[in-house]
Amino acid sequence: MIPGLTDVLPREAVVEPEGRHLADLMGRGVRGTADAVVFPSTADEVAATMRFCYANHVPLTARGGGTGLAGGAIPIEGGVVIGLERLNRIRQFDPLLWRMHVEAGVTTADVQRLARENGLRFPPDPGAAELSQIGGNIACNAGGPHAFKYGVTGRWVTGIEAVVPPGEIVRVGGPLRKDVAGYDLKSLLVGSEGTLGIVTAAWLRLIPAPELELPVIGLYHDADAGVSAIERVLASGVVPAAVEYLDGVTLSYAGDAYPFGVPGDAAFMVITEADGARDEARRVAAELREALQEDAVAVHAPTEPTDVAELWRWRAGAAFAILAQRGGAYSEDIAVPLDRLRDVARETLEIGERHRVPALSFGHAGDGNIHSTFLFSPEDLDEEQRADEACHELFELAIRLGGTVTGEHGIGWLKRGQLERQLGATGYDLHRRVKRLFDPKGLLNPGKKT
Ligand SMILES: Cc1cc2nc3c(=O)[nH]c(=O)nc-3n(C[C@H](O)[C@H](O)[C@H](O)COP(=O)(O)OP(=O)(O)OC[C@H]3O[C@@H](n4cnc5c(N)ncnc54)[C@H](O)[C@@H]3O)c2cc1C
Repeated sequence: MIPGLTDVLPREAVVEPEGRHLADLMGRGVRGTADAVVFPSTADEVAATMRFCYANHVPLTARGGGTGLAGGAIPIEGGVVIGLERLNRIRQFDPLLWRMHVEAGVTTADVQRLARENGLRFPPDPGAAELSQIGGNIACNAGGPHAFKYGVTGRWVTGIEAVVPPGEIVRVGGPLRKDVAGYDLKSLLVGSEGTLGIVTAAWLRLIPAPELELPVIGLYHDADAGVSAIERVLASGVVPAAVEYLDGVTLSYAGDAYPFGVPGDAAFMVITEADGARDEARRVAAELREALQEDAVAVHAPTEPTDVAELWRWRAGAAFAILAQRGGAYSEDIAVPLDRLRDVARETLEIGERHRVPALSFGHAGDGNIHSTFLFSPEDLDEEQRADEACHELFELAIRLGGTVTGEHGIGWLKRGQLERQLGATGYDLHRRVKRLFDPKGLLNPGKKT
């Protein structure tokens, strides 16, 4: 415990660190250390915590739902972990103006639910929505399947309230749809992974919910035919809400639970979805079917809302079916230019072979954002090490193909050292200077996003 913390926060808001505060879902056995964990209830208490840490040279690591997959919320250099879950109020909701003002600790699913119950939609749909928080989504600029049409979290944030060093509350943007007054500080905070400031609240933009959602799914003999189908979808001139894929290995693990039956000779799946007003969704779905059916082993086009929900539940659960195979899985999130999708699907398998670990890929094909995954048994430390090495070769592949080492999970702790390779010396230097400007003592989430 750190003496003096309870002078600036209510005593019950300061607790002894427990294991669950020191790790996220990255795996790799990395567990941080902390001297205290605090749960402030207001932005003022977040500011008081930061002022204390800044005055006493104590590292401060923000923690949302802890669902991050890059080790971002792990306190690597000790100090204070600041959990945001008590900042869970909806400050304002104006359904007729399509906007919501929420505190950082409100879960993604609660925002989505409140929007849906009022005929609206908050489009970002990262997979762990029941646990992840809006503050964490903003800090990682989270995506999801429907980011293809609707974009990632930052596109739906019109304003941010944050606490920045040495402990001041700043508001950038607000309930505004346009604002070009200053440098785009809001976008700088989006995706900053808790290294520039701590998000305490956000103004979110919503849209009317689509009347109809019509998935169209194509199944193919192999990856070549599947990627060609994706290219035809993109060239067709319609805008699907989502363009996802699962490769043959993924289907062999997760296919049994697929609600419409995977034909025996299928080894690649493309999931697209049309949405919008009824007539428009039906027109787009017909175009998607036409683009997908060439060379397809089967095309499925569920129309019942329960079937559609079942499809996306299955897609979200695929990660767990994969994990169940050997008990351990490192699933990365590189993104590449769309014309390199074919290379990533192929080279992922080759990397796995070279490192002697089972490999597969699936992901947000339309955004070129691929979850290349390497499996291992947690009892086999050598295999785990080889899976980790496979991930590092994958990062090299992403950079070689003109892509990024992370399309949605962030750099966190896992990808430390990769930024300079990706940005180059000048870009990296600018990056470091921005960090120093916000956080001259380097106390905010040290060791991350480097
Ligand atoms: C099954 C599963 C599926 C997933 N699917 C997706 C997906 O489809 N798309 C996707 O993008 N991600 C996905 N993720 C990753 C993860 O859910 C997202 O990155 C999510 O945005 C993390 O939010 P969190 O609240 O759990 O943040 P945490 O894990 O707690 O923290 C993540 C980072 O944000 C920082 N942070 C958290 N809160 C704040 C705050 N208030 N202010 C400043 N910094 C803060 C932390 O310091 C850390 O660096 C998935 C994870 C799982 C387990």
